[in-house]
Amino acid sequence: MIRLKFLGTGWSHGVPTIGCTCPVCTDTHPRNYRRRSSIQVMDDAYSVVVDVGPDFRDQALSFQIQQLDAVFITHQHADHVMGLDDVRRFSWIQKSPLPVYAEGTVLKRLSELYPYVRQARTGGTAVPLIHFTPWQHPVTVGSMTFTPIEVPHAGMHCVGIRIDGDTGSLGYVPDCSGFSDEALAQLEDLDVMILNALRVEPHPAHLSLEQSLEWLGRINAKRSLLTHMGCPLDYEALNPQLPEGVEMAWDGLQLSV
Ligand SMILES: [Zn+2]
Ligand SMILES: [Zn+2]
Ligand SMILES: [Zn+2]
Repeated sequence: MIRLKFLGTGWSHGVPTIGCTCPVCTDTHPRNYRRRSSIQVMDDAYSVVVDVGPDFRDQALSFQIQQLDAVFITHQHADHVMGLDDVRRFSWIQKSPLPVYAEGTVLKRLSELYPYVRQARTGGTAVPLIHFTPWQHPVTVGSMTFTPIEVPHAGMHCVGIRIDGDTGSLGYVPDCSGFSDEALAQLEDLDVMILNALRVEPHPAHLSLEQSLEWLGRINAKRSLLTHMGCPLDYEALNPQLPEGVEMAWDGLQLSV
């Protein structure tokens, strides 16, 4: 069984968004409080996080991440990678380098951002122990297999993920502006599909709410959830109006397949 926990469901600014006085940003409803998008997936023995944005420390503390065996990175935008330094607590506790999986150009960018990471601890240094590992083909961690699915997003290399376990499968695509037929074919027969919906207005690099609902209809998973949401999407107003089988994710929501 795969257990999934949403660590963050917000757009790149997070919600509330700095300097915004809209009703959602000034609301205190906990389901409108969105950290930068990330998920934790676990089986009985292993714990994996997808994307480590600038809220990672808060997410690890708020959602009690005690163990981390691998990190997968969807793309190099700041809201998905700027928390990587804080994984050092896990590589220290576990006394072993943490595998960080990403596509080649993303790994190159990560090694520019974090040139000081090491694969072994040396005396007196407080650096993350990381093993940057190319991710082009399915990677297995415990009973979970992580398959990268290429998606268009802001003209850069970006992937969504299909995660297969022994009792179910899920898809997670936090950033994209659409899908190729090939990508859609990789998202067949899912128990859960999690897809970005930025806002109501169209955006060149992201799916709007309407586009997201359209793609979710085509993907047709048993259960669909929205993530990477901006403050124009109000949980209390929108969630009850979504089509059957679709719901807004929120920070801390857990599910299993
Ligand atoms: Zn993003
Ligand atoms: Zn706002
Ligand atoms: Zn992005």
